[in-house]
Amino acid sequence: MDLNFSAEDIAFRDEVRAFLKDNWTDQDRKDMGNGLSMDHDIPVRWHRRLAEKGWAAPNWPLEHGGCPWTPTQKYIFDVECANANCPRLISFGLNLVAPVLYTFGNEEQQKKYLPDILSGKTWWCQGYSEPGAGSDLAGLSTRAERQGDHYIVNGQKTWTSTAHNADMIFCLVRTDPSAKIKQQGISFLLIDMKSPGITVKPIITLDGQHHVNDTFFDNVKVPVANLIGEENMGWTYAKLLLTHERTGIAGVARSKNRLDELKAAASTEPTGMGQAPLIDDPSFRAKISQIEIDLMALEITDLRTLADVQKGGAPGPESSILKVRGTEIQQSIAELFLECAGYYSQPYVKDTHWGNYEGEMIGADYSTSTALQYFNTRPATVYGGSSEVQRNIISKAVLGLR
Ligand SMILES: Cc1cc2nc3c(=O)[nH]c(=O)nc-3n(C[C@H](O)[C@H](O)[C@H](O)COP(=O)(O)OP(=O)(O)OC[C@H]3O[C@@H](n4cnc5c(N)ncnc54)[C@H](O)[C@@H]3O)c2cc1C
Repeated sequence: MDLNFSAEDIAFRDEVRAFLKDNWTDQDRKDMGNGLSMDHDIPVRWHRRLAEKGWAAPNWPLEHGGCPWTPTQKYIFDVECANANCPRLISFGLNLVAPVLYTFGNEEQQKKYLPDILSGKTWWCQGYSEPGAGSDLAGLSTRAERQGDHYIVNGQKTWTSTAHNADMIFCLVRTDPSAKIKQQGISFLLIDMKSPGITVKPIITLDGQHHVNDTFFDNVKVPVANLIGEENMGWTYAKLLLTHERTGIAGVARSKNRLDELKAAASTEPTGMGQAPLIDDPSFRAKISQIEIDLMALEITDLRTLADVQKGGAPGPESSILKVRGTEIQQSIAELFLECAGYYSQPYVKDTHWGNYEGEMIGADYSTSTALQYFNTRPATVYGGSSEVQRNIISKAVLGLR
C-alpha cells in the first residue's frame, strides 16, 4: 500500500483535526484525567460525539454504519485521535460482538442490536473466560440447556471487564456436553445483564482499581432468539471475534503518542543536581530507539492487516503478531516511564481519581500516574490471549511449524 499522503489524505487529516479540536476539548481532557479508567462516562461521551458525526465504527461495513475510508484514512484517524488524547472507545460492543452480529447474526438480531451499539446506547461485556477455561477456552463448562423457547444458563464467567456497567453480555456456553471434540457443542448467546439470576462480584486488580469481575449465572432464562447462528457452532463465531480483539489491542497510534510523551518527559527530567536530562543518557536513548524501531515495524504490519481487512473479511491469525508485539511495546514504554520518574512514581495517590492528582505536586506532572500506568499495562500480555499462546498460534497458523 502507498504510505505517502495524497492531497485528499491531507485534506481528510485537516478535517479530522478540526473536528477533534471542536469536539474533544481541554475540559474533556481534564475530566478524563490520565485515561486509565474504564468507567462509563468519558468513553461514552466520546463515543456519542463520534456517532453523531458518523465516525464511531470506521471498520464496520458501510451498510451498517461504517466509514467509506481507505486504510490510510483509518490510520490517519487513529493517529489524530491518539495525538488529541481522546479516550479509547470500549471495544466489547463496537469491535467484538458487532463483527459477529453483522457476519453471523440474522436480520432481526442485526436490526435489534447494531444501531444501539453504534450510537453508544448499549454497553456490552465479554463472557468467554471461566475459572477453568482461559488459554484453554474450549474447556469452558457454563451450561445452557434448552427448555422450549428458552435456554437455562448456569455457571461462572471470570475476568469479565466492565460487567458491573454492562447492559448486555455475549457468552460462550456449552449446549452439547456429549460432543466428542470440546470445540464442538459450544454456542454463542447474547444475555441481558438485568436477567434474574446474574450476580456480578468485583475483582480488584494490581492497579488498585475495579475493571474486572466474576459473573455468576444461576438458572438464567435466555430466549432462544438470542442465539447467534447455529446451536453448537459457537466456536467458529468465537474465533472470528478473537482476531478482531487481538488486532484492536495492538494500539499502535497510542503507543506512538506515549513514546513522544516519554521523550518529552525524559528531556526535562534531571538525573540529579546539575546533571544532563535523562534523554542524553546513551543507555536510555538506546532503549527508546529500540522501542521506536519495533513500533515502526509493528505499524507497517498493522497497516498491512488494515489493507487486507479493507479487501473484505476479518483479520487472520496475523492478529496474534499485532497482539504480542503491541502489548510488549506498551509494557516497555510504561517501564521506561517508571525509570524516568524514578522515586517520584507513586503507586497510589490518596483521594485522587485515577492518579489524577489535584493537590501539591511532588515531582514532574506526569510522574503521579507512571506507577498506575505500569500496573495497568501488566495484564495486557494476558488478556485477549496470553503471549505464550499467541506465539503458539503464530508458529502453527502463520509460520506453518508443527
Ligand atoms: C485485566 C484482564 C481483563 C480480562 N478481561 C476479560 C473479559 O472481559 N472477558 C473474558 O472472557 N476474559 C477476560 N480476561 C481473561 C483472559 O482472556 C485470560 O486471562 C487469558 O486468556 C489467560 O487465561 P488464564 O488467566 O486462565 O490463564 P491460564 O490459561 O491458566 O494460563 C496461565 C499461564 O500458562 C500459560 N499457558 C497456558 N497454556 C499454554 C500453552 N498451551 N502453551 C504455553 N503456555 C501456556 C499462559 O501463557 C499463562 O502464562 C481478562 C484478563 C485480564 C487479566
